[in-house]
Amino acid sequence: MLDYLILPVTPFAQNCSLIWEEATRRAAVVDPGGEVDGIMAEIAGRDLQVEKILLTHGHIDHVGGTAELARRLGVPIEGPQREEAFWLDQLPEQCRMFGFPDTPALQPDRWLEDGDTVTVGGMTLDVLHTPGHTPGHVCFVHRPSKLALVGDVLFAGSIGRTDFPRGNHAELIRAIRGKLFPLGDDFSFIPGHGPMSTFGEERRNNPFVADWA
Ligand SMILES: [Zn+2]
Repeated sequence: MLDYLILPVTPFAQNCSLIWEEATRRAAVVDPGGEVDGIMAEIAGRDLQVEKILLTHGHIDHVGGTAELARRLGVPIEGPQREEAFWLDQLPEQCRMFGFPDTPALQPDRWLEDGDTVTVGGMTLDVLHTPGHTPGHVCFVHRPSKLALVGDVLFAGSIGRTDFPRGNHAELIRAIRGKLFPLGDDFSFIPGHGPMSTFGEERRNNPFVADWA
């Protein structure tokens, strides 16, 4: 089974997540936006064997600590989808704009495509390409646990911003309704910011994507 810990990082309180296989304690870090010392302490305190870093998209609050963490752990970076080079190439500019420590442009070891899978220990997560907030945004889905990590696509009661360059509101709505909601009302999700929710709850009450919206 998959276990997880949510670690809000950076002044944006971005939900960096540790996910691991209970039996083997093999793990991945999803969206390490910063505060690498704190992430390392949580990894050591839980005796986790981190195998890789997974990225949902290239905004600085999600990826700012990635290069340093990858170097210190000696692990590869997987994701996002290739279109996200648009944002990863601009990391130095993003740092200046949002007051983050200088970070060079980032290139993952593996770009992901819709329908790909990633492994963590013996677990397999499905990759969904969910553009709209950013062009190469991906979500990670562990079907046996009915859990999705959705980055800045969907939040409890809200959806991702689409006013950035290459944002697209219609695409974002299509990704949520066409790819996330069909997973099932009983799926829980970890968003990039704020509390967890379920797709069923959002279909009932989220003013942007509820069935009645
Ligand atoms: Zn974002």
